[in-house]
Amino acid sequence: MEMCSDIDIQVKEFRIPAGGLAINNTIYINEDTSLAYTIEVFYFIILHEIAHHKRNIKANTEEKLIEFGKGDFELFLDFVISEEIIADRYASVIFNYLNREKIDYGGQNLHLESRRNEYKQKSQMMYNQLPDSVDEYSEYLLKVLV
Ligand SMILES: [Zn+2]
Repeated sequence: MEMCSDIDIQVKEFRIPAGGLAINNTIYINEDTSLAYTIEVFYFIILHEIAHHKRNIKANTEEKLIEFGKGDFELFLDFVISEEIIADRYASVIFNYLNREKIDYGGQNLHLESRRNEYKQKSQMMYNQLPDSVDEYSEYLLKVLV
């Protein structure tokens, strides 16, 4: 698949309950996720992480995350949630297109208030904790999460 040709995809044990992570040119998929979900959801999660990877290349999302992570918390949260919704929507659209069928999985459903509130707690762990540069950010994520 052309869109995956420059991305290394690795399945690893995570220290946190997250499905996947896109760091530099590598997508990390949580080993627990690969075992716990259906193949369709596993596929969806890989597409979700590809979306984060593509957004970072096109819109410098890691730089923006670092910048927002030092500013107002609500703006940081809005940014993080927006990126997650974009990645879920990308995964749905690409999954449906490639498979010619609609996936019965909506990802994190962060358009719902209750799900946003759960995500707020996750985001508070990162807020004001992020390093100053993108390189340090990658190292930080690998050290803390994977
Ligand atoms: Zn995500």
